[in-house]
Amino acid sequence: MTKDAWSELKARLRKTVGQNNYTQWIDPMDLDSIQDGVAVFNVPTNFHGNYVSQNFADLVLFEFNSLGQTVQRLKFHVPANSAARPRPAAPAVIVDQAPDKPSQMQAAPLDSRFTFDTFVVGKPNELAHAAARRVSEGGPVTFNPLVLYGGVGLGKTHLMHAIAWELKARRPDLHVLYLSAEQFMYRFVQALSERKMMDFKFLFRAVDVLMVDDVQFIAGKDSTQEEFFHTFNALVDQNKQIIISADRAPGEIKDLEERVKSRLQCGLVVDLHPTNYELRLGILQSKVQQYRSTYPDLEISDGVLEFLAHRISTNVRVLEGALTRLFAFASLVGREIDMELTQDCLADVLRASERKITVEEIQRKVSDYYNIRLSDIIGPKRLRAYARPRQVAMYLCKLLTSRSLPEIGRSFGGRDHTTIMHGVKRIEELQHTDGQLAEDVEMLRRSLEA
Ligand code: ADP
Ligand code: MG
Repeated sequence: MTKDAWSELKARLRKTVGQNNYTQWIDPMDLDSIQDGVAVFNVPTNFHGNYVSQNFADLVLFEFNSLGQTVQRLKFHVPANSAARPRPAAPAVIVDQAPDKPSQMQAAPLDSRFTFDTFVVGKPNELAHAAARRVSEGGPVTFNPLVLYGGVGLGKTHLMHAIAWELKARRPDLHVLYLSAEQFMYRFVQALSERKMMDFKFLFRAVDVLMVDDVQFIAGKDSTQEEFFHTFNALVDQNKQIIISADRAPGEIKDLEERVKSRLQCGLVVDLHPTNYELRLGILQSKVQQYRSTYPDLEISDGVLEFLAHRISTNVRVLEGALTRLFAFASLVGREIDMELTQDCLADVLRASERKITVEEIQRKVSDYYNIRLSDIIGPKRLRAYARPRQVAMYLCKLLTSRSLPEIGRSFGGRDHTTIMHGVKRIEELQHTDGQLAEDVEMLRRSLEA
C-alpha cells in the first residue's frame, strides 16, 4: 500500500471517527509497513497505541479491507527516538486480532470480575448501584432508559457488566446485548458498506435488553446518531429495556443531537459521583481480600491502605493499579508492604496524583472564610471589606497554583496582571506586621492544602 492510499484511508477514518478523534489519534499514526496481513504503525507513545488498539482497531481493519488491502492485525511500534521519556526504548508491541468473520462479530465479552459481588457500594455510587440492581432483576420495565453517567474509572462499565451477568443468570431467556458505542458505530458502518442494513436493523430490534457503553462516543457522528436514535425508539416502543452509560450528563454531551439528548433524559438518569475517602478505602480492603487467595502470606502494615485512599483520589482504576503493583513488587522482593515500600514503589503515581488546587477553589474558600459573596471577591467593588479578602485570594492563587499573573487576573474579573502583582506584594508585606492577617492566611492555606 502506498502512502497515498494511507492518506485516503485516513480521510475515510476522519469521517467516521469525527474531527477530534481524528486529530488526536489517527493523524499522528504513521504507516510503516504491511506484510503478511500485519499493518505496522509508528505511534508517539505506548499509550497512543493502546488507545487506538482499544477504540479504533476494528474500524481501521475494516477500512483496510474495504480498500482491497488484506490486513488481519495491527501492530503499534514506538520508535526509539520518539520516546521523550528517559525510559530505555524497548519498543512495545500491541497486537490486535481481526475477527474471523467480521459480519458475525459477537457482543463485547463481559469481564468476569465485574459483578455485583465485587462492586463496593458507598455514598457516591449508591443510587447508581440501586438502579442497576433494579434493572438486573429483569422484571417489568419501569424506567427506560437507565442512564449511568460519571467520570472516568468510577465504575460505569463495571456496573453494566454486573447487570448483564445478573440478567444472564436470572433470565436466561432474555437476549441481552452489551456493546460499546464504538462497536455500535462499527457495526453500522459495516452494515452500510456491505448493504446489510436490514440485517443490522433486525439484529438490534430483536434484543430484549440493549446496553450501550460510553454513548458520548457517537456525538458528532451524524449518521451513527441517527441510526442509534431509530434503534432506540424501536426498542422503547416494544418496551425493551435500554441501559446507557456516558461520561457526563446527556444534556452536557457536546454535538449530541437534541432529540437524542431528550430521549436519554426521558428515563432514569443517575450519576456516579467522584469517590470519597470511605469508598476508596472500602474498595482497597475488598481488593486485598481478593488478593489474599493469590498471595496468602501477604502482610500489610497499618496505615498503608488509609494512606493510599487518602492520596490517590483520581479514579478507581488508578487506585487498583497502584495496589496491583504494590503486591507484585512486595512478593518479588519478599518484603512486607509498609509505608517505605509503598512510597518507593509508587513514587510516580503519588506524584501524579498530588492534589491540584484551583483558582476557583481558592476564591470560594476565601469568600466563605470572610463571609462575603464569591461575586464580591471577583467583582469590581473597592470597599475595604472586599478588597482585602480579594488580595488574600490573589496571594494564595500565586502561592498554591501554577497560574501566571495574567491568568489569575482573568479569573478575577479581567484585572490587569499588575493589579494582581500589587495584591500579592501587599499581602506578603502585611503578614509581617498584621498578626491577624498572617493567621488568616495560614488557616486558609492549611485548609486548602488539606
Ligand atoms: P468506567 O467505565 O466508569 O470508566 P470502570 O467500570 O471500568 O470505570 O471501573 C474502573 C475500575 O475500577 C474497574 O476495574 C472496576 O472494577 C473498578 N471499580 C470502580 N468502581 C468500583 C467499585 N465501586 N467497587 C469495586 N471496583 C470498582
Ligand atoms: Mg467504561
